Amino acid sequence: MRYFDVVILGAGPAGATTALALRKFHPHLSVVMVEACDYQTQRPGEILTKEAIPILQQLDVLDFFLEQNHPQWQTAPRANDEATPTREFGAAVDLQQGWQLDRTRFDGMLAGYAAASGASFIRASMTEARFMTDNSWQIVTQSALHSRLLNTAFVVDATGRSARFAGEIGVPHAAHDTLVGVGRALALESEDPSDDAPLIEAFEHGWWYSAPTADNRLAVVAMTDADICKRLQLAHTARWSELLQAAPQTQRRVARLKVAGDVNVRAAHTRSLRSCCGKNWLAVGDAATSVDPISAHGIARALRFGMHASDAIGGHFGDRRSSLGNYEALVHTEFEQNLSLRADIYRSESRWENAPFWRRRHHISSSTPGGWAQWKSTLTVSNGLAGGGLRAAEQTAWAPPRQ
Ligand SMILES: Cc1cc2nc3c(=O)[nH]c(=O)nc-3n(C[C@H](O)[C@H](O)[C@H](O)COP(=O)(O)OP(=O)(O)OC[C@H]3O[C@@H](n4cnc5c(N)ncnc54)[C@H](O)[C@@H]3O)c2cc1C
Repeated sequence: MRYFDVVILGAGPAGATTALALRKFHPHLSVVMVEACDYQTQRPGEILTKEAIPILQQLDVLDFFLEQNHPQWQTAPRANDEATPTREFGAAVDLQQGWQLDRTRFDGMLAGYAAASGASFIRASMTEARFMTDNSWQIVTQSALHSRLLNTAFVVDATGRSARFAGEIGVPHAAHDTLVGVGRALALESEDPSDDAPLIEAFEHGWWYSAPTADNRLAVVAMTDADICKRLQLAHTARWSELLQAAPQTQRRVARLKVAGDVNVRAAHTRSLRSCCGKNWLAVGDAATSVDPISAHGIARALRFGMHASDAIGGHFGDRRSSLGNYEALVHTEFEQNLSLRADIYRSESRWENAPFWRRRHHISSSTPGGWAQWKSTLTVSNGLAGGGLRAAEQTAWAPPRQ
């Protein structure tokens, strides 16, 4: 059994940034990243917004990022006009400048530099977490070859939306909607620069999103609620193509392209842990709070909160007693701001007020009167999307974390 001061579970953008920042700002702490994947499979999230730049700079990896040559786009703001009726909704999202990320290379680069800066790296899945009587954790990891036992004073859950560690120790989470992305990749042939920018287009049942990917394909995704997806049979390729007709700009964009893959459905709901830290653990990135992809800030915020997490952990080991509490407050304040932004963006669309997808979003509160503490007690709690539809988020009593 090996001991590390900090075990980071998951080395996506949030976990790798936490590791990098710990090595840079708190180099006396020993750190290990445990990552289940080998960075070969593409993952959702093609857009990196410019907010990421100062963070990459602070972590001394901006030059390495720029050397990766991810395609960049920049578009001039466009005015509303009758011919392009979706602009109101799309214009509420700041997608005028950014990079089309190759996530496998980007995530691999961050984890690689964290390892080069002195963090250990284990390619395995966390399968079990045990809280010991001396206040330490034992983490069981499993790889294709063997299982391993790690002993640590502090655990970081950076396992993304699954929040695998928090789930393991019994921390409940709240689902705020049941958004899913039903997507397909199309082979891109055109060199037309107008094809470069991401496009968001509202339709009766949600919104379509399309953006070129780094491997010269166009990712085309219909975002809707799980029950609507089921009712419309959107996961069937023929129905997906049929519904594309409701989005003329997106349809025009894909008309000349070859289909390169089957339809796949991914969870994209807004969710939050009831508590994103305990006595000697914290959750970061999507594991703590996952936001609606309409904001296109998921990766940038994972980087930002990786920095905050490192600061909180440094404070915890340095006996700054308030550091974890401050981190929790920061995560929840940002999440509330995100809910507010999400509500404003959805309210900018007024064409289908009676359609279930839009009605649900027009009637959510953009603020949380009384603050997070009061508001979270009214949330519906769910373990995911099982069962489909809004009923998936059924009322359950809050249970205290097992730790
Ligand atoms: C459909 C969709 C489209 C999106 N588009 C965008 C976009 O264009 N731009 C944007 O900025 N954001 C986008 N996002 C959000 C973005 O993908 C996430 O916010 C971001 O990836 C969060 O980073 P993370 O490190 O917290 O989690 P993740 O990127 O999910 O990383 C978690 C890591 O943990 C590992 N892991 C999981 N379980 C275990 C385990 N048990 N043991 C060890 N390792 C484990 C995983 O392999 C993974 O590497 C989108 C999301 C969705 C659903």
